[in-house]
Amino acid sequence: MSGTVGRLHVIAGCMSSGKTGELIRLLSRHAVTGDSIVIYKHVVDSRDGRMARSRLGTEMEALVVAEARCIDGETCHVVAIEEGQFFGEELVGVVRRLLRDGHMVYVTGLNQDFRGEPFGVMPTLMALADEVSLLTAICQKCHGVGTRTQRIIDGSPAPWDSPLILVGGADCYEARCPDCHEVPGRPQG
Ligand SMILES: [Zn+2]
Repeated sequence: MSGTVGRLHVIAGCMSSGKTGELIRLLSRHAVTGDSIVIYKHVVDSRDGRMARSRLGTEMEALVVAEARCIDGETCHVVAIEEGQFFGEELVGVVRRLLRDGHMVYVTGLNQDFRGEPFGVMPTLMALADEVSLLTAICQKCHGVGTRTQRIIDGSPAPWDSPLILVGGADCYEARCPDCHEVPGRPQG
C-alpha cells in the first residue's frame, strides 16, 4: 500500500447506535488480510479502560490518549480513533497526515451533541471522508428511529446551556428520535 493516499471512513451516529460494534466489524476484515491495526480512544472515554467494547460483547484493545498529537500510528497500516468528538481541532490535521502517509483511517463519534448541534470536529471529518456510515439507534421513549442523543441530569432533560462534555457527572444519555428529543431553553430562531 506504500505510495498510495490513505482512505478515511467515518462511523457516526447518536448514543447507542452501535458505532463501536460496527468499527470492530470493519476492523475484523483487516485482521483477515493481516493488516496491522491500532485503536486510539480519548482518556475522557475511559468507562471500559483500555478496551474498545461494543454492546454485542465484542472488544479490542485500545491505546488511551489525552490529545490528538499522541496519535501516530506509524507502525500500523490501519488506524482507528474512537469518539472523535472528544478531540480538539488538531485531530483534523492528525487525520490528514495519516492519510498522506497512506494509512487506512477509521473515526467513530457522535455527529451531534446532546443539543442536536454539530459536535466538534466530527462534521469536518465527515466532509473529508471517503465513506461515511451514519448509524441509527432505537428511540428509548417511542421505539422509533433514534438519531439524537438525549442528556438527562437527575432524571430531567439537560438544558441547552449545560456543558458539552460532562466528566463523572450524574448525567446519563439515551437515544431519542427528533420528536422525543428534549432540550429545555433552546434559543428560538
Ligand atoms: Zn421517539
